[in-house]
Amino acid sequence: MEAINARLFGPGLPPAGQTCTWQRDSGLISWAEGRTRLPATAGEVRVAGFDLQGIELAWQDARSGAGAQGRWALQVLAAGEAARVRAAPPAGWHEVFAKLAGGRRARRGRLALGWSALLLFLALPLLLVLGFFLLADDLAGWAASRVSVKQEVALGDASFAAMKPRLALRDDGEAAAVLRELGARLTRGSVYTYRFHLVEDKSINAFAVPGGIVVVHSGLLAATRSPEELAGVLAHEVQHVELRHSLKSIMKQLGLSAVWAMASGDLAGAMTGKAAQHMMELKFSRDAEREADSAGLDALLRAGIDPAGMPAFFATLDKAGGAPPALLSTHPASAARREALAARMQAKGSHPFEPLPYRSWPPAL
Ligand SMILES: [Zn+2]
Repeated sequence: MEAINARLFGPGLPPAGQTCTWQRDSGLISWAEGRTRLPATAGEVRVAGFDLQGIELAWQDARSGAGAQGRWALQVLAAGEAARVRAAPPAGWHEVFAKLAGGRRARRGRLALGWSALLLFLALPLLLVLGFFLLADDLAGWAASRVSVKQEVALGDASFAAMKPRLALRDDGEAAAVLRELGARLTRGSVYTYRFHLVEDKSINAFAVPGGIVVVHSGLLAATRSPEELAGVLAHEVQHVELRHSLKSIMKQLGLSAVWAMASGDLAGAMTGKAAQHMMELKFSRDAEREADSAGLDALLRAGIDPAGMPAFFATLDKAGGAPPALLSTHPASAARREALAARMQAKGSHPFEPLPYRSWPPAL
């Protein structure tokens, strides 16, 4: 005969319950001042206790009799005893216990799902890092596609502002005016509002900042032999903005922090410092260069500018001799790229082009 220590709640008992003994076989519940019996018709059963290891059987006593009528509850809180009650419920109570067990299994299922979600959440940054290394190009492209033009402009402006103190801008002279005129001709109808800047720097270089900022070094200007050659370089650089190469390249170099910055919603603010570091040495793939060449060629044709200046500038760079210009280290030029450009020009047929109206070349800073 098994006797279980329990706590009883019911009419006339202390609000905090009364310790009692429950005889499993007879159903008799007894305590110092009284006794009652667990009914053979089931009431309700639920988990109880702080750790939900216990069990509570509750029933309504409708018998007439002194003080017995009302709601009763019997709590078995010791985990071992509660488990034994669950394993072998009292007579008449099997069905409600079975229902409780079903409910517990469902809760455990939900809990397991909760844990896997939490694990996934914790592992997500790790997966993202891994993903970025495996699929850097695809991911950078995807991330870039989530950036609005407005965000891109904010990012570009902030980066340019950060690098500005190190640039010797020469935006007031004749050369800068020519740069802006040619640039405006090449970017008509674009979603970006372009800004062209001239920097006094002897290295032969030019670069495009996301959002529509194109920077040309005075060394590059000095190396061009005609305004058409400069237009060729500008047309090419502009396409790195139009085709979002600069943005993708930045996203790729920044890797996870770009994803992080996007998630935090402050792309420009979070990336400014780092983006500025990378801006001048953005590297593009050969595919991106070919794309920029052919789209640049189309832009020159639309603007009515002789595209022959583009391949001509490559030749100029070749003849320059000495160390390869900075422009070529960031814009890999290959024989294949030039051949593709020549073939594309041939396919477009010959047009009569009016020479660009700048008499003395190169213009003065
Ligand atoms: Zn390029």
